[in-house]
Amino acid sequence: MNTRELIIIGGGPAGYTAALYAARANLQPLVIEGFNWGGQLMVTTDVENYPGYPDGILGPEMMAEFRRQAERFGAEFVTDDVTRVDFSEQPFRVWVENEEHTARAVIVATGATARWLGLPCEQQFQGRGLSACATCDGAFFKEKELVVVGGGDSAMEEANFLTRYASKVTVVHRRDEFRASQIMLDRARANPKIAFITNAVVEDILGEGKVEAVRLRDTQTGETWELKTDGIFVAIGHDPTTKLFVDQLDHDQQGYLVTKPGSTATNVPGVFAAGDVQDHVYRQAVTAAGSGCMAALDAERYLAALEGHPGTALTAEV
Ligand code: NAP
Repeated sequence: MNTRELIIIGGGPAGYTAALYAARANLQPLVIEGFNWGGQLMVTTDVENYPGYPDGILGPEMMAEFRRQAERFGAEFVTDDVTRVDFSEQPFRVWVENEEHTARAVIVATGATARWLGLPCEQQFQGRGLSACATCDGAFFKEKELVVVGGGDSAMEEANFLTRYASKVTVVHRRDEFRASQIMLDRARANPKIAFITNAVVEDILGEGKVEAVRLRDTQTGETWELKTDGIFVAIGHDPTTKLFVDQLDHDQQGYLVTKPGSTATNVPGVFAAGDVQDHVYRQAVTAAGSGCMAALDAERYLAALEGHPGTALTAEV
C-alpha cells in the first residue's frame, strides 16, 4: 500500500480549503469527505456573509465550488465515512470499513452536527414532522403551523426561512434572553408570521404517527400546556463529530478537539485539526476555511521537517 503524504478527513469548508492548499503544494491529498459531503452548508440556503459573494450564494453550490477548486489541483476524493483511525504511530492509519489508507500527516476536519432535544420520542417523529433542517424539510409544511426550538442565530434563521411556507412559526426558547445576534433577532421579531414563547421548554412531542402538538413547560412556574403544531424544527446548536478521535486526540469537555494556540496542531505531531471540529466559538464558513488553510500550511511544514531531518522525523513540531 502506498503511504500518502496527507489524508484529510472531512468535506466541508475546512477540509476542502485544506485540500486546495495541500494540492497546490503538490502533497496530492486524499480527502475522505464523508458520505454526506459538504458539511453544514449543504443544509443552508443563502450564504450572505462569505466575502466575495456580494449577492450571496446557495450553501450547496458554494460547497460544490470549493470541492471543484480542490479537484482542479489534483486532490482525490473518497465519498464515504471514515470508520476507524490509528494515530499511535507513523504512518497514520485511516480505515473506511475494511479499506485501509496510510499517510504521514492527517488533517481532521469532520465538523459538527445538529443537536437534538434528547426526548425519548424524538427518533420516532423524525421525518414525521420533526426535523433539524428547515432548508431540507420546510417545503413540506405549506400553510402549516410550526414550532422552532432555540434562541440562537440558527433558530432565528430557520424561523424566518420557514415563514416562506408556514402560516405561522412559534419560536420556543428556554430563557427570555437570546443568544442570537441583534440583526437576526430583529428580523425575526419584525416578521408578522413569527411569534415567541420564552422561558419554556419542549417537554414532550405528541401525535399519532406524526407530530400534532408539543407539551411545553414554563421554566419559571413549572406550568405545562399543549400547543398544537404540524411540525417542530430543532435549532439548538451542534456537537463536534469527534467520536472516532476522542480516545487518541486531546479534546475539551464538549468533545471539541484541542489545538495549540495559533496553530492547528493537535497533541499528536503530524495530526492537525481544522474547522468546527476544533472551534466552538466562531463556527463560520469563512473561519473554517481559514483554519483549513492553516492546517494545510502546518502539515506542509511538518512534512518538510520529516524530509529534512529523518532522524528526528517523528517528533517534528509545527
Ligand atoms: P447557539 O448559538 O449555540 O444557540 C443555541 C440555542 O439553543 C441557544 O439559545 C440555547 O439556549 C438553545 N439550546 C441549547 N440546548 C438546548 C436544549 N437542550 N433545549 C432548549 N434549548 C437549547 O447555536 P446556533 O444558533 O446553532 O449558532 C451557532 C453559531 O453559528 C453561532 O456562532 C451563530 O452566530 C452562527 N450562525 C450564524 C448564522 C448567520 O449569521 N447567518 C446562522 C446560523 C448560525 P441558551 O441560550 O439558553 O443556551
